[in-house]
Parts: sequence; C-alpha cells; structure tokens
Amino acid sequence: MSLGELIARLIHERGPLDVATYMQLALGHPTLGYYATREPFGAAGDFVTAPELSQVFGELIGLCLAQRWLELGRPDPVALVELGPGRGTLMADAWRATRHVAGFHGAVRLHLVETSARLRALQAERLAGTGACWHDDLADVPAGIPLLLVANELLDALPVRQFERTREGWRERLVTLDAGGRLAFVLAPGVSPYAAELLRRHGGAPLGRIVELSPAREALVTTIARRLVADGGLALFVDYGAMRLDGPSLQAVRGHGRADPLDTPGEVDLSAHVAFGELALAARAAGAFAWGPLPQGELLTRLGAEVRLERLCAARPEAAPRLREGLARLIDPARMGRLFLVLALTGDGAPPPGFDRAERFAA
Ligand code: SAH
Repeated sequence: MSLGELIARLIHERGPLDVATYMQLALGHPTLGYYATREPFGAAGDFVTAPELSQVFGELIGLCLAQRWLELGRPDPVALVELGPGRGTLMADAWRATRHVAGFHGAVRLHLVETSARLRALQAERLAGTGACWHDDLADVPAGIPLLLVANELLDALPVRQFERTREGWRERLVTLDAGGRLAFVLAPGVSPYAAELLRRHGGAPLGRIVELSPAREALVTTIARRLVADGGLALFVDYGAMRLDGPSLQAVRGHGRADPLDTPGEVDLSAHVAFGELALAARAAGAFAWGPLPQGELLTRLGAEVRLERLCAARPEAAPRLREGLARLIDPARMGRLFLVLALTGDGAPPPGFDRAERFAA
C-alpha cells in the first residue's frame, strides 16, 4: 500500500485530518514516510542544505558552541545535541573543527535526535569514534548538565496547522477526500479552539486569509528553553522563515522544484517557513533569553567565515572554486544568506558568540 492509499483509508474511516497530522504522516511515517524512504539531500535529491554546501557552516557552528562552553567555565560533562542531523555532515564538521579546543571532546556527551532509522545509519558512519548516541525525542536526552544544541532545517519539517479567517471566525483547514477520491483541502465546520490565539496573533487578517500555527515547534522550543534556564548553555536554530508570517507557507519540493503538497504524500518533501518571533516569545515565556534572529550570512561572517575560507583555499588550491562557491551560496543575501535566519537561545543574559548585546529579542 502507498502512503497516499493509507492516508485515504484513514480519512475514509475516521474523517478529515488536520494539516499537522497529514504533514507528520507524510514526512515521518516509520516505513512509508518521506524521511524513511527517500534520500532528500544533495544534487540528486530534492534539496541541498547548508552543511552539504560548505564545511565552513558546521565548523563555525561547532566553534560557536565550543566558545560558549569556554565562557561557561568548561563544564564537564556537557551535552552536545543535534536535532535532525540529516547525513551527519554538520556534526562531523563541528567535531573536527573543535578537536583542538582543549578538554572539549572529553567533556562532551554527544546526543543525536533523529526519527529516521535510515538517516541514523548514515550519521553513525560519519560520526564513528565520537561516542554519539541516538534518540527519538529530545525528552530522552538526559537533563541536568549544560546543553549545547543545534538544529538546522529541523523546525521547517515540524508540522504546522492551518486556519482560514471566515465570516464566522477562524476555521481550521483539513485534508479530506474529494468526490473523485483524491486528497483535497476543506474547512472544518465549526470555529477552531485556537480562535482566540489566532485573533491575538493575526487580528487584522482579511477574510479568506490562511495562517499557520505550529504547536509542535512551540512545544519543542519551550522544552529547550526550560532546560537552558535550569542547566545553562546555548541553542541555535537555523531555518528559512521570517520574524513574522502572515500567510500560508506549507510547500512541497521534489527534485529541487515545487510540487503539490497533497500529491503523492511520502514522495515529496513537505515543509513550512518558520515564524521566528513566535518561537522567541515561547522561549521568553519559559524564562530563557532569545537572540536575533540574525541573517545566516551575517552570523557566519561575524564568526569568521572569510578567514576560514581563505585558509581552506590556501591548503587546497585545486578545490578553491568549489569552496568559494559553496560558502558564497550560504552568505550572499540574494541566495541563502538572508532567507535563512539564526535564532539563539540562552539561559542567562550573556550574548552568544556572534551576537551583540543589543540583539536580544525584545518585541
Ligand atoms: N540538519 C540536516 C538535515 C535537515 S532535514 C541538514 O542540515 O542537512 C531534517 C532532518 O530532521 C532529517 O534528518 C529528518 O529525518 C529529521 N527529523 C524530521 N522530523 C524530526 C523529528 N520530529 N525529530 C527528530 N528529527 C526529525
């Protein structure tokens, strides 16, 4: 049975699904979901991520986290955590870059949170010798020690719900079957229990406007913020999005091009832009400090991307054009440099490496 058939049967038996449940199934179904069955990354896959474009990305993230560890007074042990490590490239680069930070590797307990068994196997190959262990959920990563965490393009894969402003109020958008048995969007009959929250966030939205909420992202950020307050540390979230989103952003990507999100679930990547302001507010509500979000290009530059690039090019002149092109894609504002943002969270008021005191989120 295909995932499309399975979802159709589910809707037939139990009624329409909310968009978050649909997204969750399409991406995360343990045997038929996108991450379980596809090779999403790279030129032959559906999309390319920052660590796959330039080793400098993971190196600078690793050094940024290690710098925070030094500022914390070199706590031993410290948890180094990555959420959704993909092929393991970011962490492999971070690990290599931090090997000369005295005492760091000895203090680090490396935890990778990954739901896809197939990707876990790839990560294990890349991270042999690091002592890494794997978990399905952040809740399984032991608490009580300082936390250094990174998640690149993880939040955009976490499910969003969608709502439409109608004459009666905010109604949720659901996925159902049309007369021909194909997946189609429909509005839930009544006003959503999220209506009051939606009114607070999107009070000025015109009739017909569709907006998104991601309880899953907010819950994750709240959990991390609480841990940072209790145990200290730093979390970095890198993703595409904006401080605020006023429209729908759910999208499907196949072979580096756009596809229909309801067409062939499990075979296309589904994602939605991240509304960073909502996450910064969730972190603050949990007592943590939020920083930025800063454009990815800006932060990488501040962390020394150009210096690192020149060193790499000098060491491997034959690879210089590829190295320069990879990093340029990440930094150039017209490419990924500004579309991707970095939100940092800390448990105390000391600005993270690369962030200025004035860049504390205060909206
Ligand atoms: N960070 C990587 C991969 C991004 S793709 C990179 O930058 O290349 C998203 C990753 O998150 C995949 O590894 C996917 O399997 C994983 N993932 C998706 N949903 C997840 C969840 N709920 N918990 C943990 N990992 C998840």
